[in-house]
Amino acid sequence: MSLPQPTEDRFCGCLIGQCVGDAIGFIVEGQPSQVCRSHLDAVLRDGRSIEGHRGPFPLGQYSDDSQLARELLSSYVACGRFEPEDYARRIAAIFVEERIVGRGRATEDAALRLAAGVPWQEAGTPPPNAGNGSAMRAGPIGLMFHDDIDGLIRAACDQGRITHADSRCSGGAVAIAGAVALALRDEPLEPKVVLDRLAEWAGAVDSTMADALRRLSDWLTLSPEKAVTFISRAGLPTGSRDMWIGISPFVVGSVLWSLYAFLRTPDDYAAAIDTAIAVGGDVDTTAAMTGAIAGARNGLNAPPSHVATRLNDQGNWTYDDLVGLAQQAWRVKAATKRRPV
Ligand SMILES: [Mg+2]
Repeated sequence: MSLPQPTEDRFCGCLIGQCVGDAIGFIVEGQPSQVCRSHLDAVLRDGRSIEGHRGPFPLGQYSDDSQLARELLSSYVACGRFEPEDYARRIAAIFVEERIVGRGRATEDAALRLAAGVPWQEAGTPPPNAGNGSAMRAGPIGLMFHDDIDGLIRAACDQGRITHADSRCSGGAVAIAGAVALALRDEPLEPKVVLDRLAEWAGAVDSTMADALRRLSDWLTLSPEKAVTFISRAGLPTGSRDMWIGISPFVVGSVLWSLYAFLRTPDDYAAAIDTAIAVGGDVDTTAAMTGAIAGARNGLNAPPSHVATRLNDQGNWTYDDLVGLAQQAWRVKAATKRRPV
């Protein structure tokens, strides 16, 4: 059975949803829960303030998570298909040209190897480094391969290993891409069914991520305050210590938190972003991943417009540009589906 093409609105919702979550979280990245909560009160509630800023960047600037997701979608549009070699060139360029905002160390190291001529298949930072740098940008793979799960698993891993070679990172990228694919479907969303599917797909490449996804079913009914005590430790080797407050950049915990935030309120974008950020920690990334999934489910009008209309990347790639890119990607996907096999 072939799945119908999702609406253009949901492709746009996925990219804008990712960028808005990232932009809101970027202001308070690395901060404790208390700081994140007052930021959310200002931006999502009391008067919907646009006062926040991070360094030279006012609210609306999105960071590396969404810059690299945007480049992944741009590469798809330019090539007419997912082409890891082209995407790797774009990752190298954005670092070499100093356009990256809020860089991750493992991604930067890999980008410099790519720039020095290392092939994309060999450039990824090796284990035990297992940050969320390849999962944070995997949402667009869910758009490209929503109707081809074998292709989705392959592409999520390939786009990931350009910078991260650890299989837990591959599992995280599959989970985020898979969640976007499921969020695009017009069917009732049953959290346990979603998590079982994601565990099965991620389990094709990594058992730690698969086991953690299955356990998340039991934690979904817990309050955020209680759930974070389990999720922040999920997948960590016994005895290891994570010094981060809230959710760290470790791929297992941050992917799980993003899914927890989405699955608590799958039909309410703002509430999901609130949960993703209020916990504190690496919250530009948790909100970017939650935002991509919630945007794919709820469409372009779901992210708050007072932030969406201010989106930009150092003055470029504004809201209109991003919507235009998502529309082009939708047309590429629609044309691919019509092509005889
Ligand atoms: Mg970031």
